[in-house]
Amino acid sequence: MTPEATQQLLDIAYIAATVLFILAIKWLSSPVSAKRGVLAGEIAAALAVGATLCNPELVAYKWVVITLILGAAVGIPLGLVHMTAVPQRTALSHAFGALSAALIGIAEFYVGVQQGNVTRFQMGEIGLEVIIGSLTFTGSLIAAGKLQEILPQRPIVYRGQNLVSLSVLSAALLLAIALVVNPANTVLFPIMVMVALVFGVLLVTPIGGADMPTVISLLNSYAGFSAALLGFVLNSKVLVVAGALDGSSGFILSVIMCKAMNRSFTNVMFGAFGQVQAGTAAAAEQRTVRSASPEEAAGILAAASSIVIVPGYGMAVAQAQHKVRELYDALTKKGVTVKFGIHPVAGRMPGHMNVLLAEADIPYERLVEMEEINSDMPQTDVALIIGANDVTNPAARTDAASPIYGMPIVDVDKAHTVMVIKRGMSPGFAGIDNPLYYLDKTLMLFGDAKQFVGSIVRELAGGHG
Ligand code: NAP
Repeated sequence: MTPEATQQLLDIAYIAATVLFILAIKWLSSPVSAKRGVLAGEIAAALAVGATLCNPELVAYKWVVITLILGAAVGIPLGLVHMTAVPQRTALSHAFGALSAALIGIAEFYVGVQQGNVTRFQMGEIGLEVIIGSLTFTGSLIAAGKLQEILPQRPIVYRGQNLVSLSVLSAALLLAIALVVNPANTVLFPIMVMVALVFGVLLVTPIGGADMPTVISLLNSYAGFSAALLGFVLNSKVLVVAGALDGSSGFILSVIMCKAMNRSFTNVMFGAFGQVQAGTAAAAEQRTVRSASPEEAAGILAAASSIVIVPGYGMAVAQAQHKVRELYDALTKKGVTVKFGIHPVAGRMPGHMNVLLAEADIPYERLVEMEEINSDMPQTDVALIIGANDVTNPAARTDAASPIYGMPIVDVDKAHTVMVIKRGMSPGFAGIDNPLYYLDKTLMLFGDAKQFVGSIVRELAGGHG
């Protein structure tokens, strides 16, 4: 085959991969077409990698094979983690993606300088790409460490911190500008990389609590943009498109999550959310709650005509979704109308509850989004909360001093009766007390979500089994 014909074939493969990447993003936006979207994304990635491997410019396959084996050895166990560990796993993936983008940018710089052909424009591209890649690498590692609880989850803040962070970022950008003026100044390049790495640490350490998943999504967006910039450096169109898709979808997701928590970007980035609130524990100790047994809970549920189940992170940890399905079946059989109220940030990642409930084959049309279910709440007999906490906290509506004030919640407190399944009085991800538990209409059902729901199901079936 002539070199021109080979190049044409490679271009066709890249165009097909680009189209499939775009379709994958589109199809992933609906649960009906999501599986098709995953498949399209996989085929696109395989096409892009396969075409790159067939590039005649590639001469040494030995290193490619070694790195493929090493990458697979790390990637396969990472892909098999438990669903609740997906946010930290995602952060690690961003760290690796950003590291590879930064390393390729660094290699391009040194090869270019050696050959004496780095133009100012290319230097600008490389500089920006390496800065974003480096800060995303360290930022993502810190984020993964926080979510895995290897590092303190709380925000670490000090006086003048925003000023220090902005100064470090400005230093990295100034070094990049100096390199654009004189790309042959090789002394400045490693300093710029180091400063960008330090900025990544400074960027994420002051963030914590409920803002972490938003930060992960933002880091995803940075990793995507650095890959897109790398596409310009390497003159790879498919990398530009895939990086831009990744970058913009991560950015849009961050905006959606900020909206769901009623927080602005600046607030997430500089607000130090999730610090321990003084007095919360003391306040919780002094107040009393009413608790009930599985038998009592089953009696109330069986007598209701409408129930809204609000799942949260605790249902995911307990892997209670299949028991919840059994509860849904038992109640529906008794003629009770059961719906699920889904908060957009319930759990630890967007769509967490939808995925778990779909896994248990709960009919998708029973899953109702927060805005819609809230209008049903005053007419609902029982709101049954399973392992959710922050997303049901009425302080978000009523207490202007609460860190989650203004965050939209599922208005479970407007139902006639509220029942909450959780193991004890521990707070949720935001680390704050929940006044819902002390209402006269609230019954606490203390226990592990899977076991407690299982006991209720047995009671509903007549106490046998
Ligand atoms: P949450 O506020 O973290 O509360 C989860 C509750 O589950 C805890 O209070 C815990 O209480 C209980 N729990 C834990 N293990 C349990 C078990 N085995 N059985 C029964 N209960 C158990 O969860 P959420 O209401 O779903 O709220 C999600 C939080 O994540 C919010 O703060 C949200 O802002 C944040 N967030 C999520 C996203 C996202 O994309 N999903 C994004 C950004 C932020 P006990 O320990 O007493 O059992």
